[in-house]
Amino acid sequence: MNNPAQKQMRAPILDAPIASLPKVSRAILPALKRLGIETLRDLLFHFPARYEEFPAERPIARVAAGESVTIKGVIQRISGFRTPRKGMHITEAAIADASGMIQAVWFNQRFLEQNLKEGSIVRLSGKVVRGTRGLTLQNPSHEKVTSDLRQATGSSDTHTEGLVAIYPETYGITSRWLRFLIRTYIGATSDMPDPLPQETLARHGLPPLTSALRAIHTPDTRESALRAEKRFIFEEMLLLQMHSLRERARLKARRAREIPFDVPLVKEFVISLPFRLTDAQRRAIWEIGHDMAKDQPMNRLLEGDVGSGKTVVAAAAALLAVRAGGRVACMAPTEILARQHHATFTSILAPFHATIGLLTGAKKEYGALTDIVIGTHALLHREKDFADFNLVIVDEQHRFGVSQRAALTRNKELGIRNNDKSGHPIIHNSQFLLPHFLSMTATPIPRTLALAVYGDLDLSLLDEMPQNRKEIITRIVSPGKRREAYAFIRAEVSRGRQAFVICPRIETPNQEARIKNQEGQQKSLLAAEVKTVMDEYKKLTTEIFPDLRIAMLHGRMKAKEKDAIMQKFRSRDTDILVSTSVIEVGVDIPNATIMMIEGADRFGLAQLHQFRGRVGRGSDQSYCFLFPTEDGAVSRRLHAVANAKNGFELAEKDLAIRGPGDIFGTRQWGEAGLAIRGVRDPKLVRDVRQEAVELVKKSPDLSAYPALAERLARMEKTLHLE
Ligand code: ADP
Ligand code: MG
Repeated sequence: MNNPAQKQMRAPILDAPIASLPKVSRAILPALKRLGIETLRDLLFHFPARYEEFPAERPIARVAAGESVTIKGVIQRISGFRTPRKGMHITEAAIADASGMIQAVWFNQRFLEQNLKEGSIVRLSGKVVRGTRGLTLQNPSHEKVTSDLRQATGSSDTHTEGLVAIYPETYGITSRWLRFLIRTYIGATSDMPDPLPQETLARHGLPPLTSALRAIHTPDTRESALRAEKRFIFEEMLLLQMHSLRERARLKARRAREIPFDVPLVKEFVISLPFRLTDAQRRAIWEIGHDMAKDQPMNRLLEGDVGSGKTVVAAAAALLAVRAGGRVACMAPTEILARQHHATFTSILAPFHATIGLLTGAKKEYGALTDIVIGTHALLHREKDFADFNLVIVDEQHRFGVSQRAALTRNKELGIRNNDKSGHPIIHNSQFLLPHFLSMTATPIPRTLALAVYGDLDLSLLDEMPQNRKEIITRIVSPGKRREAYAFIRAEVSRGRQAFVICPRIETPNQEARIKNQEGQQKSLLAAEVKTVMDEYKKLTTEIFPDLRIAMLHGRMKAKEKDAIMQKFRSRDTDILVSTSVIEVGVDIPNATIMMIEGADRFGLAQLHQFRGRVGRGSDQSYCFLFPTEDGAVSRRLHAVANAKNGFELAEKDLAIRGPGDIFGTRQWGEAGLAIRGVRDPKLVRDVRQEAVELVKKSPDLSAYPALAERLARMEKTLHLE
């Protein structure tokens, strides 16, 4: 199976652009891209989020109202019309089998009338209600029984019978369509080399690649789907482990400039702060100081919930690096955040005479004599060679896009000029020094997860909030209580406090247009977002708080404008800031005590938690008001946010609500998406670690496992985890 000749034959097919497949139209490409599907391989490795179990087929005569059923019959009649009042498109059909007849009705699925014709044989699955014309299937899933699909795949159960895969969807792409496409091409994997060595499969009782792929997309039983899933989880965790083992070995072989751990300096710094550091912060500074004192590059993740005080820890590290005669680069995901860090570093490092520069897309304020450069990803373009720096800090590292993360890693690797491109990374004698590397995140990763994902990465946890904090009071506000909430805000403002108002995220209803023109869509999305902010601003300034000082902030503004607005808010010249999600991360304005989120149910859990983290940063009692959209739907998610005290607790609840695999949104975690599911099983984590160590021990350059080496190289290409 691991025959290289075969691999070469196979690779071009699997790596074929998805656009080259006959069943894929141009129009659908942007939507596929959003799912991360660009090649046939991506498609076949786009796994179901879950499975739906359809009831077994039965005669129409034996169907009763209130049941979920599957029936098969001939379409007697099908037609559509538009409702006069709501403008909804309704499709009605009558279906008959030998035992009887039933109605079916669909809402806003006009295309069905093209698809299903009188005389078509269909299988329908859905809920039965009693309608005006008798028993009616409401919005059933459908499938033409004699379709090309059947002939192409030789499979009879597809969309409405037995276990059916439900995929993570996006605008314009349904699970139904994905199932169809995947079934058509799954044969292409028939002799794809299995990255997992035979011995590994045997040791852990895992199914081989091709049968696992079939089982995950078209399972016969839940058990076979689960076994397949476990195999892929194992594979992904194993790759991550091997990656970090090798990364670790590689870093061990590299050198960095030693930054002496100047304890008196740190003491002086700690004393100079306007607050007392938490024990967790002290511990983190201590760990970082010790790491940097070595002549090996530090690779440490500083993890702490929003508001736990990561910035000051980073500032301490920067101070040590500067005093040792080095330079520091610090990268933040947004311009607003870069400027804020610039201000924070400038003020807390003022007693130590460090020169601090700023580099964003809009601004370059630094020169050769700058000790610390703070910037956005613009840093990546300006600073081609990060080997110039003694210390590189990346804040909110999970927020950087895939390409930016890749660029960062590339830059970090620039020191390795004689890098061997074949993917064998162990280089012992490079004369180039690497910077020490500190990344920061508020992503609530439990330690076990971090270990499983990052392997031997060094981790400092800020598991303690500053003493002065009060728990943020979070309330879900029903429409009837809106006035009360406004009155409350007014009272807080009159006491000198400030408030944020976040406008709902925009979801455009016109899905087709979205797919047709992605760029245009982005623009109109932004325009729509700007409009909601303006509307909200207008409402607040004219109706609700005409006497208060209100400002607005959105993504269309120039950097300078945004900066001026944040500045005014910071200096308390504004009472209320109406904003889009641009202030989601990092923003730190301790005098703001109210976070009000409109359309709260449109945001993800992690995002809501981040918004809430914008308040409660000082010693005053803070509040977070969640306003659900008009229909008053209060989701379990909102309750979870209201009841969870911290990011960790929230991640746990999220797991319970959405099921594992989706805690942080797979996108953010890239390849770690599946591994996250596995991490809750400590035995699996142990097994995987052991297996990784075993394989690397047997064949350090993996030459004994070419398929695994290839898979690992491919993963490392896209991996950002550092
Ligand atoms: P995050 O971990 O979310 O990045 P920040 O570093 O922005 O948090 O810190 C949040 C706020 O807490 C800032 O205003 C900071 O000055 C303040 N702060 C940090 N550490 C302490 C502490 N030990 N005691 C009191 N306030 C602190
Ligand atoms: Mg921060």
